[in-house]
Amino acid sequence: MVEQDYLLLAPGPVQLHPRVREILAEPMIHHRTPEFDKILQRVLMNLKKVFETQQNVFIHTSTGSGGMESLLVNTLKKNDNVLAIVGGKFGERWAQMAKAYGCHVDEIKVPWGEKFSAKTMLPFLAQKSYAAVLCQATETSCASAFPIAEIGQTIKSYPQTLFLVDGITAVGAYDLPMDQLGIDGLVAGSQKAFMIPAGLSFVSLSQKAWKVCETNPTPRYYFDLRLEAVANKKGETHFSSPVSLIKALDFVLMEYNRVGLQNLHQQIHRRAEMTRYFVKLLGLKLYSQMPSDSVTAILLPDFLDGQKIRQDLENQFKISIMGGQDQAKGKILRVGHMGFIQDSDMLNFFSSLMLVLEKAHQLNQKPNGDFVIDELKRKNILKEMQTWQQKKIF
Ligand SMILES: *Cc1c(COP(=O)(O)O)cnc(C)c1O
Repeated sequence: MVEQDYLLLAPGPVQLHPRVREILAEPMIHHRTPEFDKILQRVLMNLKKVFETQQNVFIHTSTGSGGMESLLVNTLKKNDNVLAIVGGKFGERWAQMAKAYGCHVDEIKVPWGEKFSAKTMLPFLAQKSYAAVLCQATETSCASAFPIAEIGQTIKSYPQTLFLVDGITAVGAYDLPMDQLGIDGLVAGSQKAFMIPAGLSFVSLSQKAWKVCETNPTPRYYFDLRLEAVANKKGETHFSSPVSLIKALDFVLMEYNRVGLQNLHQQIHRRAEMTRYFVKLLGLKLYSQMPSDSVTAILLPDFLDGQKIRQDLENQFKISIMGGQDQAKGKILRVGHMGFIQDSDMLNFFSSLMLVLEKAHQLNQKPNGDFVIDELKRKNILKEMQTWQQKKIF
């Protein structure tokens, strides 16, 4: 097998398990065969466990955004009032999508990385009837985890309102029990916590949302969940199944079962904690006041150029992380914690980032006293990280 020649620590796509890479290279089998039917059935059953729902989970052959669109076209119609919590790029995208289908969208704009309280919604909910509230569980552009439990609790008092959640960088990464949190529509994507390439989205509707879906007049075909439900009952997908991706997903979900969902969440949480600890040791800050476990955004001092640091990490150390988008461009670094990642990868990242920052700092014209990495500090940080590594929990 070709060796992975660089370390991918993006918030999606993520590093693949070696077994997934093998599965993706296997010979093709047809999707209308008993062999594949068995795999599909197992996958559909195991997806429900990750979504923590009694409802069906459906697979679309699309990226995550397709799944977001699916939730909208199945549950909303033209002229519906929609309340969108917009805390970054993906929130903006979902609000735009709802507008494209003729919904009247009120946006609660949450400044990137700032705290959000469900109470903010109350004046909106009091003033008109909303068909749905839209929110990202993790807003990947600023690495914020929104208080989904609190929002779900608030929406429960409005029986006509559906709670639709973009869980694309949340489902599988941390606990987001759909049924328990009162989520009516949940979407996830394959290239994030599910650790396979982009190309699949997963969606599920509560019973309340399914009732709306069944009679919703919005025209739809490819994303019509009613057609998909009929096909799934026969053990099939409505369209050609992306066989290789579903076989890879089958492996990942069986791994999830073997390791246990809580333990998997714990592994990702530990990487996030490790990163947050390292950021503090370095004298840097987190960008988000609601830091997510699936991705961390590191706020850089003004005098450092994030784009250059990202590039240096890639060129000098073959480590690929993400910078900021739009208003956060050049100001932050985003490191993903999902995927097939070892502790040694984390240490490799920490020590490399430290060297790159040190160099950037030396080249800087007006050095900042708070942010000096000298030999002593560097040694100390590495020692601390090694100690952390020994606190292995698995
Ligand atoms: C990655 C991501 C998406 C989906 O993006 P696609 O490129 O369509 O897969 C949507 N929402 C969030 C929060 C994401 O992180």
